Amino acid sequence: MSLADATKHFFEQAAAGLDLEPGVRQLLETPQREVMVQVPVVKDDGTLEVYLGFRVQHNDARGPFKGGVRFHPSVDLDEVRGLAALMTWKCAAVNIPYGGGKGGIAVDPFTLNKRELKQMTRTFISKIFPFLGEKIDVPAPDVNTNAEVMGWIVDKANELAHDDVRGVVTGKPIELGGSVGRTEATGRGVALTTLRLLKYLGQDPAKMKVAVQGFGNNGSYTAYYLSQAGCRIVAVSDISGGFGDDNGLDIPAMMEYCKTSDKHLLAGYPDASPISNEQLLEGDVDILIPAALENQITADNADRIKASIVVEAANAPTTPEGDKILAERNIKVVPDILANAGGVTVSYFEWVQNLQSFYWDEDTVNTHLTNIMHNAFDDIWNLAKERNLSLRTAAYTIAIERVVKAMKLKGMLL
Ligand code: NAD
Repeated sequence: MSLADATKHFFEQAAAGLDLEPGVRQLLETPQREVMVQVPVVKDDGTLEVYLGFRVQHNDARGPFKGGVRFHPSVDLDEVRGLAALMTWKCAAVNIPYGGGKGGIAVDPFTLNKRELKQMTRTFISKIFPFLGEKIDVPAPDVNTNAEVMGWIVDKANELAHDDVRGVVTGKPIELGGSVGRTEATGRGVALTTLRLLKYLGQDPAKMKVAVQGFGNNGSYTAYYLSQAGCRIVAVSDISGGFGDDNGLDIPAMMEYCKTSDKHLLAGYPDASPISNEQLLEGDVDILIPAALENQITADNADRIKASIVVEAANAPTTPEGDKILAERNIKVVPDILANAGGVTVSYFEWVQNLQSFYWDEDTVNTHLTNIMHNAFDDIWNLAKERNLSLRTAAYTIAIERVVKAMKLKGMLL
């Protein structure tokens, strides 16, 4: 099942319990706008390559479209469509004033040098600029895009707007209006939701064994903050392989190792035993945190997962079939639209700071982040209890109700 179909499936699962008219459902199942553009790049060897770029704007009833831009060969309209819808539900689930959007270019960015990458980014932005704006659609980093790319985007947007429109994109370098705490925000948010769940379940973090798949931005900070809270991180992995230690891995040392290792990967880390991806996912742990890719927990492996808690740090790591098996086995799943919302929440803070030209310190950012994540978790937990729903269906239910209410108040559904 594609990511767009999986997102639609989870939407429909929650919508089934709500009294939505068919026309309203149709509005929410389809994006408001899809843009597809050619992105020509003249390479240094003189050849012309033409890539396809996409921006999908799913829903803006609650505020400007918000969502990352990814550079990856697998990007296509369907994937971007699914991720855009996921952003609408994520922003509404944690109650920040944004709609959902997503963008991307179908390209392997590692085949381009920096000048070519910069030209591609700037051309893409000039093609979709009519649809962007600080109060219209605000992109951010995603897979294979980072603060540097956001810097190129803001420069091109300023040029086209003849203005300083730095709030048109988030995830910028601090020097260009980025927010302190944004780099750590997604992992910090994943840790906050995990610890909130443990509190509700009456479980002691110090007794928890945790496995984290993916040791990039999200996974490494998730592992770090959970280890700081006393959890024992017994397995982590990245594309180069996994490492385990039943006594607990030294996460700060592993993060330090990746700063200087080949391609910033864990390969060759000397102080833990190598493990396979299967061993990581199916190992003897209390909490499993997929923080890398889509479609990791599926019909093929969900019945072998030993963790009693799965926290979805990645977007869409569990397929609908895998989710059904986890539910049948009473495994608690903290859904992606709640667990990884810390990133977009601090992007929202960055945008607020840009619009006000007034910058917060790290304590202020982290206090607001904690409040938003805790309030969102509590609302979703309470609804799940009250209506006997999974946390995912409760999160979607709250999100859908908020979006529909905004559409009604705007008179869009009359
Ligand atoms: P990243 O590129 O920094 O890290 C990805 C990690 O996954 C890397 O360590 C990579 O080596 C690893 N990986 C790739 N393939 C793997 C495989 N087959 N097995 C094990 N590990 C593998 O990306 P990120 O920003 O950390 O994003 C990870 C996930 O979190 C994605 O699903 C992304 O959409 C989601 N997410 C990220 C943010 C954010 O702010 N960074 C916010 C919300 C959601």
